[in-house]
Amino acid sequence: MQLINPANETFLGHLVQDSSEMILEKYNKVVQAQKEWKKVGIKDRIQWISKYKKLLLQNIDHLALTLTEDMGKPLSQSKGEIKGAMGRLDYFINHCEQYLSTETVNVSETHTEMIAYEPLGVIANISAWNFPYNIGFNVFIPAIVAGNGVLYKPSEFCSRTGEKMISLLFDAGVPKNLVKVIQGGGKTGAALLDLDIDAVYFTGSHKTGQSIYNKVASKMIPCQLELGGKDPLYITADNANLISVVDSAIEGVFWNNGQSCCAVERIYVHHSLYDQFLDLFVQKVNAMKIGNPMDDDTFIGPLARKQQINILQSQVDDALAKGATVLTGGKALECKGYYYMPTVVSNVDHTMSIMNEESFGPIIGIQKVASDEEAIKLMKDSKFGLSSAVFSDKYQTAKPILDTMDTGTVYWNCCDRVSPYTPWSGRHNSGIGSTLSHIGIRAFTQPKAYQLKSFEK
Ligand code: NAD
Repeated sequence: MQLINPANETFLGHLVQDSSEMILEKYNKVVQAQKEWKKVGIKDRIQWISKYKKLLLQNIDHLALTLTEDMGKPLSQSKGEIKGAMGRLDYFINHCEQYLSTETVNVSETHTEMIAYEPLGVIANISAWNFPYNIGFNVFIPAIVAGNGVLYKPSEFCSRTGEKMISLLFDAGVPKNLVKVIQGGGKTGAALLDLDIDAVYFTGSHKTGQSIYNKVASKMIPCQLELGGKDPLYITADNANLISVVDSAIEGVFWNNGQSCCAVERIYVHHSLYDQFLDLFVQKVNAMKIGNPMDDDTFIGPLARKQQINILQSQVDDALAKGATVLTGGKALECKGYYYMPTVVSNVDHTMSIMNEESFGPIIGIQKVASDEEAIKLMKDSKFGLSSAVFSDKYQTAKPILDTMDTGTVYWNCCDRVSPYTPWSGRHNSGIGSTLSHIGIRAFTQPKAYQLKSFEK
């Protein structure tokens, strides 16, 4: 496989895809290593994370550069991702022992009852390219700490990053055969599912997630899916500080070039603020620097994948054909690299794909609403269910709206953020299961109930 830098279309190197034989050989090694690892006490299974943190930070310049070359994220944002991911590692250092230790849940006169959290065995982690550190850590760190072995398949659009991220695990003290990187594209991912794995954790598109879910159904193993979204943001009538609202919305839409699962992909604005909001929003978008991701002040770099340009263009064209207005952008840049102009589209409605299909790029539809009731109706009109956000000066205004949202996460006056303290989960076409929080730690275990009775007085 040829690896191409999306910023300038230069050749980065060749990727050797794992054959079925290579995958089986790696799997057998992980099976053996996991048998020993599960006997290691929980305290020792956590020890290596602090050293891993240190190594990541010592190598941050090199790691960030590799990430930027792989998928085009501006270098400053690549560094930001690696630094930000440290918070997740701290969370696991501080909470895994608590949530993975055996609990005594009932002591009666006759019985003692306990829950033990046992590892699943060997898990497959098939991952995406957009935030490889964050989404990788959500899975393979707690999986290892819970006593599992891991077959980690990075995206073919981030294979060099995946290799480096895993090799530092071994430098930090994780046994070499406990985790294996499996390299390749979709066919390689599918081959991984043919193995006798004990669970699969997938991050990626709804389409691939659905095919994985079908494929492993007969195995009756845990299958977690973290999929895409079409996340709405609503601006209520009572917002006094519209500039701050616009700043947050811009980050929510355009951070990582819009290639975030929980990027803001639809904006609804109360009619009383609509014109003012649009003016401020478009001004800010026009001031964003688009270009070489290596430059410090670049905010919008290239898209990771060339084919995404066609998807974005077809959504914009569909909106235009149905009566929408492009306020800025609306086309690809004519240059080397996969650049699409940050694009704002108004006069949109839900017949347009820009308002109902995942865009995964720097384009946004903004729709005027007459009331909170109309906003709620439109926000809920989606097959996805990852996150939804309300910006309002009063929590009392936002709360009833947030309470009705059928999404895994709701935000008040913030958006496009993930915390290790709360579960990260999608509903409907956005996925099944949770990572992060105590729920996401225990997601890599199977509970065993102990019911104990002593005949001694
Ligand atoms: P993708 O579905 O194209 O690929 C994801 C992974 O699956 C890759 O490693 C790929 O090689 C592999 N794959 C492809 N076909 C396969 C098959 N048939 N069997 C097994 N594996 C296969 O997705 P992507 O482009 O890498 O990622 C973008 C998508 O991921 C977006 O939809 C985004 O919203 C979503 N995402 C979701 C979250 C979340 O937490 N919910 C986080 C990040 C990204």
